[in-house]
Amino acid sequence: MPSTQVWDAAAALRKVGLRVTRQRLAVLDALRDRPHASADTLTTVTREALGSVSVQAVYDVLAACAEHGLVRRIQPAGSPALFEARTQDNHHHLVCVSCAKIADVDCVSGEAPCLIPDDAQGFAVSAAEVVFWGTCPDCATAAASPQ
Ligand SMILES: [Zn+2]
Ligand SMILES: [Zn+2]
Repeated sequence: MPSTQVWDAAAALRKVGLRVTRQRLAVLDALRDRPHASADTLTTVTREALGSVSVQAVYDVLAACAEHGLVRRIQPAGSPALFEARTQDNHHHLVCVSCAKIADVDCVSGEAPCLIPDDAQGFAVSAAEVVFWGTCPDCATAAASPQ
């Protein structure tokens, strides 16, 4: 979603036919401010907003929203499942091998699938998810500077 667009979580929920609840609003709001957050992080943030909320409740919200395309789940190797509210744009991710920071990268071709395998073996390819592994600028700077 373009960052200039005003994020209206209630409208987004209604649009896909999900009931608007305080928990769903709180989780979606938490996700908007923290892309690529784990369920644990989102539980902590949601608790700050609502008081008590169980981890299971947050998982339930994430599952329902993911099923309806409001939330995307990504899971780079070695990382817990992470969630983001930027969906439907087929973007990819840069992951730092040192600090695990994640950044979004726009899809090069603009539509899915942006990569076609050399040999699709008869599969009708509909999507490609790419994780680019590397070192983020902060970690590169830290590694280059003397202690
Ligand atoms: Zn890093
Ligand atoms: Zn992302």
